[in-house]
Amino acid sequence: MKWLVSVSFGELILKGKNRKTFFDRAKRNIKRNIKSIGYNDIFMESSKLYIDVDKDKIERTIEEVRKVFGIVYVSKVLKCEKTIDGIKKAAIDVLDEWGEYSNKTFKVKTNRVDKSFELKSPEISAEVGGYVLENKDDLKVDVHNPDFELFVDIKEDAFVYVERHEGFGGLPIGSSGRGLLLLSGGIDSPVAGFMMAKRGVEISALHFHSYPFTSKRAQQKVEELAEILSQYTGEITMYSINMLDIYKQINLNCRVRETTILSRRFMMRIGERICKENDINVMITGESLGQVASQTIESVSVINEAVNIPILRPLIGMDKTDIIDISREIGSYDKSIEPFEDCCSVFTPDRPVTKPRLKDILQSEEKLDVDKLIDDAISKMEIIKIS
Ligand code: ATP
Ligand code: MG
Repeated sequence: MKWLVSVSFGELILKGKNRKTFFDRAKRNIKRNIKSIGYNDIFMESSKLYIDVDKDKIERTIEEVRKVFGIVYVSKVLKCEKTIDGIKKAAIDVLDEWGEYSNKTFKVKTNRVDKSFELKSPEISAEVGGYVLENKDDLKVDVHNPDFELFVDIKEDAFVYVERHEGFGGLPIGSSGRGLLLLSGGIDSPVAGFMMAKRGVEISALHFHSYPFTSKRAQQKVEELAEILSQYTGEITMYSINMLDIYKQINLNCRVRETTILSRRFMMRIGERICKENDINVMITGESLGQVASQTIESVSVINEAVNIPILRPLIGMDKTDIIDISREIGSYDKSIEPFEDCCSVFTPDRPVTKPRLKDILQSEEKLDVDKLIDDAISKMEIIKIS
């Protein structure tokens, strides 16, 4: 008998002819996440992936594998002799290893992929269930509403397990093109990146700062946020742009109330340039309608108008409380709420325009050398790899 980690995929299974590419991607992403832990072998057996790791590394492996998108659940399974007696003994071992079965109800659920196996699924469930009852006197069977299920998979080999650790679902990274995440130090943008990554988008990040108006520590915080995100997305290329000159020119030449909208249009244009030069398909922001004065339909429209590339806003219709829940779940919340100034908050006007008119904004931009400001900012861009 041998303890293994098993990985079950969701939507992947449905994706007809792309199936193999998706499995390969998921497998690659899993290998990447567990490389540092170290494993002995990794193999597929009828739609599940099995990882052979030393027993003391199983818990950590499960934790890391769970972060890979495309996975429905991960389990610690016992591979055993493929006979009814072997399975019965394994069932007891699995319960003892788990240790949380006292005074609970259960049922056995058998998945018999190998149709040549000596018994049919209901017979296997009944035999194994009976054996467990004989050997554990504080357990009862309840086939309708059991406290837990004991799973038996019969394939080329036989596997027994109880716990299913939920994954995030979604699609494996790399199966849906590439996106440039506009990553601030706030709560929203890491969540936005997570959500698109979950749909298979490979993520790069773009951060704007105003050093020395904003501190190095504030930049560090954003890098740490990217690092948290990279546990799910894999390595992230992060572009950093200093916006200080742009803010100064806006302040000198334009209406203060338009600062936010004008600077956002600069951000989008710079982002678009980076996308074009690096074969990135879309930009992603953490905007959510009505959350702050600048996030109105009118602003979103005027911001969009600055570029041709699609801008994805996965949080646009979400409430803050729901966004916070996700940020807690992915582990970015505590980092996001650390109090460091953001490049925009430093220059945020007291009363920003909330219903900007494109005509006015274009007029203001005429007072700026937009192309030169963008060229200058990009020429000083810094690029780092985060994993
Ligand atoms: P967040 O919580 O993500 O900071 P927010 O609620 O503070 O968002 P805004 O400041 O209006 O909202 O920013 C909206 C979006 O614009 C952000 O989610 C992010 O995608 C982008 N953005 C804002 N500031 C920056 C920045 N300094 N660098 C990169 N992107 C930014
Ligand atoms: Mg912010």
